Amino acid sequence: MYDTLIENIGQLILPAEGPLKGDAMKQLEVKENMAIAFEDGKVAWIGPNEEARKLKANERVDAMEKTVTPGLVDPHTHLVFGGSRENELALKQAGVPYLEILQQGGGILSTVEATRAESETHLYEKAKQTLEQMAAHGVTTLEAKSGYGLEREAELKQLRVVKRLNEESLLDLVSTFLGPHAIPPEYKGNEEAFLDDMIRLLPEISEEGLAEFTDIFCETGVFTIEQSRRFMKASQALGFQTKIHADEIDPLGGTELAVSMGAASADHLVAASDEGIDRLAEGDTVAVLLPGTTFYLGKDYYANARKMIDSGAAVALATDFNPGSCVTYNPQMIMSLAALKMKMTPEEIWNSVTVNAAHAIGRGDVAGCLSVGRKADVVLWDVPNYKYIPYHYAANHAKAVWKNGRKVWERRGARVFSVPQPGQGC
Ligand SMILES: [Zn+2]
Repeated sequence: MYDTLIENIGQLILPAEGPLKGDAMKQLEVKENMAIAFEDGKVAWIGPNEEARKLKANERVDAMEKTVTPGLVDPHTHLVFGGSRENELALKQAGVPYLEILQQGGGILSTVEATRAESETHLYEKAKQTLEQMAAHGVTTLEAKSGYGLEREAELKQLRVVKRLNEESLLDLVSTFLGPHAIPPEYKGNEEAFLDDMIRLLPEISEEGLAEFTDIFCETGVFTIEQSRRFMKASQALGFQTKIHADEIDPLGGTELAVSMGAASADHLVAASDEGIDRLAEGDTVAVLLPGTTFYLGKDYYANARKMIDSGAAVALATDFNPGSCVTYNPQMIMSLAALKMKMTPEEIWNSVTVNAAHAIGRGDVAGCLSVGRKADVVLWDVPNYKYIPYHYAANHAKAVWKNGRKVWERRGARVFSVPQPGQGC
Protein backbone atom coordinates (compact mmCIF):
# COMPACT_ATOMS: atom_id res chain seq x y z
CA MET A 1 0.00 0.00 0.00
CA TYR A 2 1.58 3.24 -1.17
CA ASP A 3 0.97 6.58 0.58
CA THR A 4 0.27 8.51 -2.63
CA LEU A 5 -0.26 7.51 -6.24
CA ILE A 6 -0.38 10.13 -9.00
CA GLU A 7 -1.91 8.51 -12.06
CA ASN A 8 -3.00 9.39 -15.60
CA ILE A 9 -0.01 11.73 -15.92
CA GLY A 10 -0.04 13.44 -19.33
CA GLN A 11 3.71 14.12 -19.27
CA LEU A 12 6.20 12.97 -16.65
CA ILE A 13 9.48 14.91 -16.84
CA LEU A 14 12.57 12.95 -15.81
CA PRO A 15 15.79 15.01 -15.97
CA ALA A 16 18.93 12.86 -16.28
CA GLU A 17 21.47 12.65 -13.45
CA GLY A 18 23.83 15.60 -13.65
CA PRO A 19 25.45 17.98 -13.66
CA LEU A 20 24.43 18.33 -17.29
CA LYS A 21 26.92 20.24 -19.41
CA GLY A 22 26.58 21.63 -22.91
CA ASP A 23 24.74 19.30 -25.30
CA ALA A 24 23.59 17.09 -22.41
CA MET A 25 21.42 20.04 -21.33
CA LYS A 26 19.51 19.81 -24.60
CA GLN A 27 18.13 16.36 -23.75
CA LEU A 28 15.10 15.82 -21.52
CA GLU A 29 13.26 12.57 -20.95
CA VAL A 30 9.51 13.05 -21.35
CA LYS A 31 7.23 10.06 -20.75
CA GLU A 32 3.51 10.04 -21.49
CA ASN A 33 0.64 8.15 -19.79
CA MET A 34 2.64 7.47 -16.65
CA ALA A 35 2.09 7.12 -12.91
CA ILE A 36 4.29 7.66 -9.85
CA ALA A 37 3.89 6.37 -6.28
CA PHE A 38 5.41 7.56 -2.99
CA GLU A 39 6.06 5.68 0.23
CA ASP A 40 7.76 6.93 3.42
CA GLY A 41 8.73 10.20 1.77
CA LYS A 42 10.48 8.56 -1.17
CA VAL A 43 9.60 7.71 -4.74
CA ALA A 44 8.63 4.03 -4.54
CA TRP A 45 7.42 3.25 -8.05
CA ILE A 46 7.36 4.83 -11.51
CA GLY A 47 5.66 3.07 -14.41
CA PRO A 48 3.10 3.06 -17.21
CA ASN A 49 -0.37 4.14 -16.24
CA GLU A 50 -2.04 0.82 -17.12
CA GLU A 51 0.10 -0.93 -14.48
CA ALA A 52 -0.87 1.68 -11.86
CA ARG A 53 -4.53 0.58 -11.88
CA LYS A 54 -3.80 -2.52 -9.81
CA LEU A 55 -1.69 -0.63 -7.25
CA LYS A 56 -3.17 0.32 -3.89
CA ALA A 57 -2.62 3.72 -2.29
CA ASN A 58 -4.06 5.78 0.55
CA GLU A 59 -4.37 8.79 -1.73
CA ARG A 60 -4.92 8.64 -5.49
CA VAL A 61 -4.42 11.81 -7.51
CA ASP A 62 -5.79 12.07 -11.03
CA ALA A 63 -3.29 14.00 -13.16
CA MET A 64 -5.33 13.72 -16.36
CA GLU A 65 -3.71 15.74 -19.19
CA LYS A 66 -1.37 17.39 -16.71
CA THR A 67 2.40 17.49 -16.22
CA VAL A 68 4.49 16.15 -13.33
CA THR A 69 8.10 17.16 -12.68
CA PRO A 70 10.64 17.07 -9.84
CA GLY A 71 10.24 19.86 -7.29
CA LEU A 72 11.99 23.02 -8.43
CA VAL A 73 15.34 23.96 -6.91
CA ASP A 74 16.09 27.68 -6.46
CA PRO A 75 19.91 27.90 -6.08
CA HIS A 76 20.27 31.65 -5.40
CA THR A 77 18.00 33.59 -3.03
CA HIS A 78 18.45 36.35 -0.48
CA LEU A 79 15.55 34.99 1.57
CA VAL A 80 16.05 36.75 4.91
CA PHE A 81 15.97 40.55 5.14
CA GLY A 82 14.26 43.44 6.88
CA GLY A 83 12.14 46.12 5.21
CA SER A 84 11.35 46.66 1.53
CA ARG A 85 12.48 49.15 -1.11
CA GLU A 86 9.50 50.16 -3.23
CA ASN A 87 10.68 53.79 -3.03
CA GLU A 88 13.68 52.94 -5.23
CA LEU A 89 11.45 52.17 -8.18
CA ALA A 90 11.15 55.91 -8.91
CA LEU A 91 14.97 56.25 -8.95
CA LYS A 92 15.19 53.36 -11.38
CA GLN A 93 12.54 54.98 -13.58
CA ALA A 94 14.68 58.13 -13.59
CA GLY A 95 17.56 56.00 -14.89
CA VAL A 96 19.84 56.29 -11.85
CA PRO A 97 22.37 53.40 -12.12
CA TYR A 98 22.48 50.84 -9.31
CA LEU A 99 26.07 51.60 -8.31
CA GLU A 100 25.09 55.27 -7.90
CA ILE A 101 22.10 54.41 -5.69
CA LEU A 102 24.56 52.33 -3.67
CA GLN A 103 27.00 55.22 -3.34
CA GLN A 104 24.17 57.41 -2.02
CA GLY A 105 23.63 54.97 0.86
CA GLY A 106 20.50 53.56 -0.75
CA GLY A 107 20.12 50.20 -2.36
CA ILE A 108 21.48 47.35 -0.33
CA LEU A 109 22.60 49.65 2.49
CA SER A 110 19.01 50.58 3.36
CA THR A 111 18.19 46.87 3.60
CA VAL A 112 21.24 46.43 5.84
CA GLU A 113 19.92 49.11 8.16
CA ALA A 114 16.47 47.50 8.28
CA THR A 115 17.90 43.99 8.79
CA ARG A 116 20.15 45.10 11.64
CA ALA A 117 17.15 46.75 13.33
CA GLU A 118 14.77 43.77 13.04
CA SER A 119 14.50 41.11 15.75
CA GLU A 120 15.39 37.53 14.86
CA THR A 121 11.76 36.52 15.49
CA HIS A 122 10.51 39.17 13.09
CA LEU A 123 12.97 38.15 10.37
CA TYR A 124 11.94 34.54 10.87
CA GLU A 125 8.22 35.30 10.54
CA LYS A 126 8.79 37.35 7.39
CA ALA A 127 11.02 34.74 5.73
CA LYS A 128 8.55 32.00 6.70
CA GLN A 129 5.82 33.69 4.68
CA THR A 130 8.13 33.97 1.69
CA LEU A 131 9.03 30.31 2.05
CA GLU A 132 5.35 29.37 1.92
CA GLN A 133 4.96 31.36 -1.29
CA MET A 134 8.02 29.67 -2.79
CA ALA A 135 6.51 26.26 -2.06
CA ALA A 136 3.25 27.41 -3.64
CA HIS A 137 5.20 28.16 -6.82
CA GLY A 138 6.76 24.68 -6.96
CA VAL A 139 10.02 25.14 -5.04
CA THR A 140 10.98 22.28 -2.71
CA THR A 141 14.73 23.00 -2.21
CA LEU A 142 16.44 26.37 -2.09
CA GLU A 143 19.59 28.19 -1.17
CA ALA A 144 19.39 31.18 1.20
CA LYS A 145 22.13 33.75 1.80
CA SER A 146 22.96 36.13 4.59
CA GLY A 147 24.60 39.42 3.56
CA TYR A 148 22.33 42.13 4.93
CA GLY A 149 24.04 42.30 8.29
CA LEU A 150 27.63 43.15 7.33
CA GLU A 151 28.57 42.82 11.01
CA ARG A 152 28.92 39.81 13.29
CA GLU A 153 25.63 39.86 15.19
CA ALA A 154 23.36 40.71 12.27
CA GLU A 155 25.02 38.20 9.93
CA LEU A 156 24.73 35.42 12.52
CA LYS A 157 21.11 36.45 13.13
CA GLN A 158 20.27 35.95 9.44
CA LEU A 159 22.07 32.60 9.34
CA ARG A 160 20.24 31.41 12.47
CA VAL A 161 16.94 32.23 10.77
CA VAL A 162 17.91 30.10 7.77
CA LYS A 163 18.99 27.25 10.05
CA ARG A 164 15.73 27.37 11.99
CA LEU A 165 13.64 27.48 8.80
CA ASN A 166 15.52 24.43 7.54
CA GLU A 167 14.87 22.57 10.79
CA GLU A 168 11.25 23.59 11.25
CA SER A 169 9.89 23.72 7.71
CA LEU A 170 9.39 20.76 5.41
CA LEU A 171 11.49 22.37 2.67
CA ASP A 172 15.26 21.88 2.37
CA LEU A 173 17.28 25.08 2.78
CA VAL A 174 20.98 25.30 1.98
CA SER A 175 22.68 28.10 3.90
CA THR A 176 25.29 30.48 2.46
CA PHE A 177 27.33 33.08 4.37
CA LEU A 178 27.54 36.20 2.20
CA GLY A 179 29.21 38.55 4.69
CA PRO A 180 31.21 40.32 1.94
CA HIS A 181 28.07 41.44 0.09
CA ALA A 182 28.74 45.21 0.26
CA ILE A 183 31.02 47.61 2.10
CA PRO A 184 29.21 48.96 5.17
CA PRO A 185 29.42 52.77 5.53
CA GLU A 186 31.57 52.50 8.69
CA TYR A 187 34.29 50.73 6.61
CA LYS A 188 34.25 52.96 3.55
CA GLY A 189 37.84 53.24 2.29
CA ASN A 190 38.88 50.42 4.59
CA GLU A 191 37.69 47.41 2.61
CA GLU A 192 40.55 45.11 3.61
CA ALA A 193 39.74 45.55 7.31
CA PHE A 194 36.09 44.72 6.65
CA LEU A 195 37.05 41.61 4.71
CA ASP A 196 39.30 40.59 7.62
CA ASP A 197 36.31 40.92 9.95
CA MET A 198 34.20 38.69 7.72
CA ILE A 199 36.99 36.10 7.49
CA ARG A 200 37.27 36.11 11.28
CA LEU A 201 33.59 35.03 11.45
CA LEU A 202 34.21 31.87 9.43
CA PRO A 203 35.38 29.57 12.29
CA GLU A 204 32.34 30.47 14.41
CA ILE A 205 29.94 29.90 11.48
CA SER A 206 31.60 26.58 10.77
CA GLU A 207 31.52 25.40 14.39
CA GLU A 208 27.86 26.27 14.81
CA GLY A 209 26.92 24.69 11.49
CA LEU A 210 25.33 27.93 10.32
CA ALA A 211 26.41 27.72 6.67
CA GLU A 212 27.69 25.21 4.17
CA PHE A 213 28.70 27.72 1.47
CA THR A 214 30.28 31.16 1.40
CA ASP A 215 29.74 33.82 -1.24
CA ILE A 216 31.24 37.22 -2.11
CA PHE A 217 30.10 40.12 -4.32
CA CYS A 218 32.99 40.60 -6.75
CA GLU A 219 32.26 43.83 -8.64
CA THR A 220 33.60 47.30 -9.37
CA GLY A 221 33.25 49.39 -6.22
CA VAL A 222 32.63 46.32 -4.03
CA PHE A 223 35.26 43.53 -3.83
CA THR A 224 38.15 43.00 -6.23
CA ILE A 225 39.32 39.74 -7.77
CA GLU A 226 42.24 39.60 -5.31
CA GLN A 227 39.97 40.17 -2.31
CA SER A 228 37.53 37.56 -3.63
CA ARG A 229 40.32 35.03 -4.02
CA ARG A 230 41.52 35.71 -0.48
CA PHE A 231 38.02 35.21 0.94
CA MET A 232 37.42 32.03 -1.07
CA LYS A 233 40.76 30.56 0.04
CA ALA A 234 40.01 31.31 3.69
CA SER A 235 36.56 29.73 3.28
CA GLN A 236 37.87 26.58 1.62
CA ALA A 237 40.56 26.18 4.30
CA LEU A 238 37.73 25.77 6.81
CA GLY A 239 35.79 23.32 4.68
CA PHE A 240 33.21 25.66 3.14
CA GLN A 241 32.20 25.26 -0.48
CA THR A 242 32.30 28.54 -2.36
CA LYS A 243 30.12 30.68 -4.60
CA ILE A 244 30.70 34.08 -6.14
CA HIS A 245 28.55 36.95 -7.47
CA ALA A 246 30.68 37.39 -10.59
CA ASP A 247 30.83 39.60 -13.67
CA GLU A 248 27.35 41.04 -13.22
CA ILE A 249 28.13 44.59 -14.35
CA ASP A 250 31.82 44.70 -15.32
CA PRO A 251 33.91 41.81 -16.73
CA LEU A 252 36.41 41.64 -13.86
CA GLY A 253 37.15 37.94 -14.34
CA GLY A 254 35.12 36.52 -11.48
CA THR A 255 33.99 33.69 -13.76
CA GLU A 256 37.59 32.60 -14.40
CA LEU A 257 38.36 32.94 -10.69
CA ALA A 258 35.40 30.72 -9.76
CA VAL A 259 36.54 27.93 -12.07
CA SER A 260 40.19 28.14 -10.96
CA MET A 261 39.10 27.98 -7.30
CA GLY A 262 36.75 25.06 -7.93
CA ALA A 263 33.73 27.06 -6.78
CA ALA A 264 30.39 25.23 -6.79
CA SER A 265 28.85 28.06 -8.76
CA ALA A 266 29.51 31.43 -10.38
CA ASP A 267 26.39 33.57 -10.37
CA HIS A 268 25.05 36.39 -12.63
CA LEU A 269 27.75 36.32 -15.41
CA VAL A 270 25.98 38.96 -17.53
CA ALA A 271 29.37 40.47 -18.42
CA ALA A 272 31.38 37.23 -18.42
CA SER A 273 34.16 37.27 -21.03
CA ASP A 274 34.54 34.70 -23.82
CA GLU A 275 37.57 33.41 -21.94
CA GLY A 276 35.48 33.03 -18.78
CA ILE A 277 32.82 31.10 -20.69
CA ASP A 278 35.47 28.78 -22.14
CA ARG A 279 36.79 28.14 -18.64
CA LEU A 280 33.28 27.23 -17.42
CA ALA A 281 33.07 24.58 -20.11
CA GLU A 282 36.36 23.06 -18.90
CA GLY A 283 35.59 23.15 -15.18
CA ASP A 284 33.02 21.86 -12.69
CA THR A 285 31.59 25.24 -11.68
CA VAL A 286 27.88 25.65 -12.47
CA ALA A 287 26.88 28.96 -14.12
CA VAL A 288 23.85 30.22 -12.16
CA LEU A 289 22.02 32.75 -14.34
CA LEU A 290 19.57 35.28 -12.92
CA PRO A 291 17.61 36.84 -15.80
CA GLY A 292 14.98 38.21 -13.39
CA THR A 293 17.60 40.61 -12.07
CA THR A 294 18.57 41.88 -15.51
CA PHE A 295 14.87 42.33 -16.28
CA TYR A 296 14.15 44.12 -13.00
CA LEU A 297 17.14 46.43 -13.42
CA GLY A 298 15.72 47.36 -16.82
CA LYS A 299 18.79 46.31 -18.79
CA ASP A 300 18.84 45.14 -22.38
CA TYR A 301 21.77 42.77 -22.25
CA TYR A 302 21.30 39.37 -20.60
CA ALA A 303 23.83 36.69 -19.66
CA ASN A 304 24.90 34.79 -22.78
CA ALA A 305 23.27 31.48 -21.93
CA ARG A 306 23.37 30.32 -25.56
CA LYS A 307 27.14 30.69 -25.79
CA MET A 308 27.60 29.05 -22.38
CA ILE A 309 25.52 26.00 -23.26
CA ASP A 310 26.83 25.74 -26.81
CA SER A 311 30.41 25.95 -25.44
CA GLY A 312 29.78 23.10 -23.01
CA ALA A 313 29.06 24.78 -19.65
CA ALA A 314 26.54 23.61 -17.04
CA VAL A 315 23.85 26.29 -16.62
CA ALA A 316 21.31 26.66 -13.82
CA LEU A 317 18.59 29.28 -13.30
CA ALA A 318 17.60 31.01 -10.06
CA THR A 319 15.26 33.78 -8.96
CA ASP A 320 17.85 35.86 -7.01
CA PHE A 321 14.87 36.81 -4.84
CA ASN A 322 15.92 39.96 -2.96
CA PRO A 323 14.36 43.30 -1.97
CA GLY A 324 16.30 45.50 -4.39
CA SER A 325 17.25 44.03 -7.74
CA CYS A 326 14.79 41.14 -8.17
CA VAL A 327 11.56 41.08 -6.22
CA THR A 328 10.12 37.75 -7.27
CA TYR A 329 10.21 34.24 -5.84
CA ASN A 330 8.43 32.73 -8.84
CA PRO A 331 10.86 30.51 -10.81
CA GLN A 332 8.20 30.08 -13.50
CA MET A 333 8.59 33.76 -14.39
CA ILE A 334 12.36 33.23 -14.57
CA MET A 335 11.75 30.30 -16.94
CA SER A 336 9.84 32.60 -19.30
CA LEU A 337 12.61 35.20 -19.18
CA ALA A 338 15.18 32.49 -19.91
CA ALA A 339 13.19 31.55 -23.02
CA LEU A 340 12.42 35.07 -24.23
CA LYS A 341 15.58 36.96 -23.28
CA MET A 342 18.30 34.27 -23.30
CA LYS A 343 16.91 32.02 -26.05
CA MET A 344 17.09 28.89 -23.93
CA THR A 345 15.01 25.93 -25.13
CA PRO A 346 12.30 24.39 -22.91
CA GLU A 347 14.52 21.33 -22.37
CA GLU A 348 17.49 23.47 -21.28
CA ILE A 349 15.23 25.50 -19.01
CA TRP A 350 13.82 22.46 -17.20
CA ASN A 351 17.29 21.02 -16.67
CA SER A 352 18.37 24.43 -15.31
CA VAL A 353 15.68 24.63 -12.62
CA THR A 354 15.98 21.01 -11.51
CA VAL A 355 19.10 18.86 -11.85
CA ASN A 356 21.67 21.60 -12.53
CA ALA A 357 20.20 23.90 -9.90
CA ALA A 358 20.57 21.07 -7.38
CA HIS A 359 24.23 20.60 -8.34
CA ALA A 360 24.88 24.34 -7.90
CA ILE A 361 24.06 23.94 -4.19
CA GLY A 362 25.59 20.53 -3.53
CA ARG A 363 22.28 18.66 -3.62
CA GLY A 364 22.69 16.81 -6.91
CA ASP A 365 22.32 13.45 -5.19
CA VAL A 366 19.01 14.23 -3.45
CA ALA A 367 17.14 16.92 -5.42
CA GLY A 368 16.33 17.80 -9.03
CA CYS A 369 15.70 14.29 -10.39
CA LEU A 370 13.02 11.64 -9.93
CA SER A 371 13.83 7.96 -9.60
CA VAL A 372 12.92 5.14 -7.23
CA GLY A 373 14.55 5.72 -3.83
CA ARG A 374 14.94 9.46 -4.24
CA LYS A 375 13.04 12.00 -2.15
CA ALA A 376 9.45 12.39 -3.31
CA ASP A 377 9.80 16.10 -4.16
CA VAL A 378 7.20 16.45 -6.89
CA VAL A 379 5.09 19.14 -8.57
CA LEU A 380 1.80 18.54 -10.39
CA TRP A 381 1.40 21.36 -12.91
CA ASP A 382 -1.93 22.37 -14.37
CA VAL A 383 -0.46 22.45 -17.88
CA PRO A 384 -0.72 20.00 -20.82
CA ASN A 385 3.04 19.72 -21.39
CA TYR A 386 6.42 20.96 -20.15
CA LYS A 387 6.77 23.56 -22.92
CA TYR A 388 3.69 25.38 -21.67
CA ILE A 389 5.20 27.01 -18.55
CA PRO A 390 7.85 29.25 -20.22
CA TYR A 391 5.19 30.13 -22.80
CA HIS A 392 2.39 31.27 -20.45
CA TYR A 393 4.34 33.76 -18.37
CA ALA A 394 3.97 35.33 -14.91
CA ALA A 395 1.24 32.91 -13.76
CA ASN A 396 1.46 30.23 -11.09
CA HIS A 397 0.80 26.92 -12.84
CA ALA A 398 1.48 24.70 -9.82
CA LYS A 399 -1.59 22.68 -8.85
CA ALA A 400 -0.07 20.60 -6.03
CA VAL A 401 3.41 20.34 -4.50
CA TRP A 402 4.85 17.44 -2.46
CA LYS A 403 8.00 17.61 -0.34
CA ASN A 404 9.36 14.30 0.98
CA GLY A 405 6.04 12.79 -0.07
CA ARG A 406 3.96 15.27 1.95
CA LYS A 407 1.66 17.69 0.23
CA VAL A 408 2.92 21.18 1.12
CA TRP A 409 0.65 23.12 -1.21
CA GLU A 410 -2.48 22.61 -3.23
CA ARG A 411 -4.46 25.06 -5.33
CA ARG A 412 -8.05 25.59 -4.32
CA GLY A 413 -10.57 26.79 -6.85
CA ALA A 414 -11.50 30.46 -6.86
CA ARG A 415 -15.06 31.31 -5.79
CA VAL A 416 -16.22 33.45 -8.67
CA PHE A 417 -19.58 31.79 -9.28
CA SER A 418 -22.48 31.93 -6.83
CA VAL A 419 -23.44 28.36 -7.78
CA PRO A 420 -20.53 25.85 -7.51
CA GLN A 421 -19.32 24.83 -10.96
CA PRO A 422 -18.36 21.29 -11.87
CA GLY A 423 -14.68 20.68 -11.16
CA GLN A 424 -14.32 23.60 -8.78
CA GLY A 425 -11.79 23.04 -6.05
CA CYS A 426 -8.98 20.53 -6.03
ZN1 LIG B 1 22.47 37.62 -5.31
